[in-house]
Amino acid sequence: MNNVRKIWESCNIAENFPQFASSVLFNEPMSLHTTFRTGGPVDLFAEPKTRAELEAVLSVFLSERVPVWITGGGSNLVVSDKGLRGVCVSIAGFQSVTVNKEKTRVTAGAGMLVDDLVSWCAEHSFSGFEQFAGLPGTVGGAVYMNARCYERSISNIFFEADVLYFRNGRYTVETVGKNTGGWGYKKSPFQAINNTSGSKRGIVETGAIEIGHLAVILSASFCVLPGDPEAIRAVMHSCVSDREAKGHFRFPSAGSMFKNNRAYGKPTGKIIDEVGLRGASVGDAQVAPWHGNLVINRGNASSADIRALVEQVQEKVFKKTGFILEPEVVFVGEK
Ligand SMILES: Cc1cc2nc3c(=O)[nH]c(=O)nc-3n(C[C@H](O)[C@H](O)[C@H](O)COP(=O)(O)OP(=O)(O)OC[C@H]3O[C@@H](n4cnc5c(N)ncnc54)[C@H](O)[C@@H]3O)c2cc1C
Repeated sequence: MNNVRKIWESCNIAENFPQFASSVLFNEPMSLHTTFRTGGPVDLFAEPKTRAELEAVLSVFLSERVPVWITGGGSNLVVSDKGLRGVCVSIAGFQSVTVNKEKTRVTAGAGMLVDDLVSWCAEHSFSGFEQFAGLPGTVGGAVYMNARCYERSISNIFFEADVLYFRNGRYTVETVGKNTGGWGYKKSPFQAINNTSGSKRGIVETGAIEIGHLAVILSASFCVLPGDPEAIRAVMHSCVSDREAKGHFRFPSAGSMFKNNRAYGKPTGKIIDEVGLRGASVGDAQVAPWHGNLVINRGNASSADIRALVEQVQEKVFKKTGFILEPEVVFVGEK
């Protein structure tokens, strides 16, 4: 019996939260929880639906110094083929949506799919979110990654988020406003806390929270305006059609592999095209033959294939142009 199972069996979560306890999964393949469809097993996969369940599972494992990974829709993740020794906590169960009295802000649970929130806003004639139609993943993931679609970043409409902080063994829930700082292109203040920024040319080696600090986004509020439902739906339709035309959904992927760097004067996809890497592959991982900044899983790619391909692209682009490409996709687990 491994350490995680032992800790689980000796804790009192099953007594206090029987329904939640019966839903946890042991040795769960992460390939079932990532849009790339790769990744080995995590020792324990948990999907709490309430703050009490979330705190219970974090307390048990963080106090035993077991690594914990937070996930939403898994649409920006490459999990190692060796899997994760520790616990993966999915926030997908945090589902809710409300609007304030003045109808200027919508607040969504971190687990709500962005696409569902966009549709909800359209149904209720709220404008602001429509450019995010078709974005895979959850509200929490979009805030954490500061997702950007059609020249609009989540930080452009973000108002505040309720965030569960774990610091030195204690929890607090704090409301984090836009003015907190730490926002930038594909950058949110939460990335530095959870250790998912920086390292070898942008490839994040861990992303696990072993002790110290952890920030879990529980819900987020966004600024909206009254809008014409027809016009909102027209924008949504055009964004989704454009994604389809660009082949976003043809194969499993995590969307754009690398960040765009304005200093390089052109989009990363164009740089990769010009270096002649469209269609390059390692195993079943391939630079999409129709888009330089999209890495796809043609069927049986492993995470090691994806990683090796990413490293090859970085190396060749660096040799030919001197540009350092920084992945926006988060790589987690042992190489
Ligand atoms: C086909 C396709 C198209 C895409 N197009 C775009 C695009 O146009 N623009 C863009 O920006 N991205 C795009 N992406 C990438 C991805 O969809 C976004 O980054 C998305 O916002 C990630 O959300 P998620 O819930 O899947 O996060 P995950 O992949 O589950 O997690 C990503 C990171 O966020 C952290 N995280 C997730 N939820 C929480 C939480 N509640 N609290 C704290 N940390 C959390 C995780 O720990 C991890 O570090 C695309 C992906 C695909 C597959």
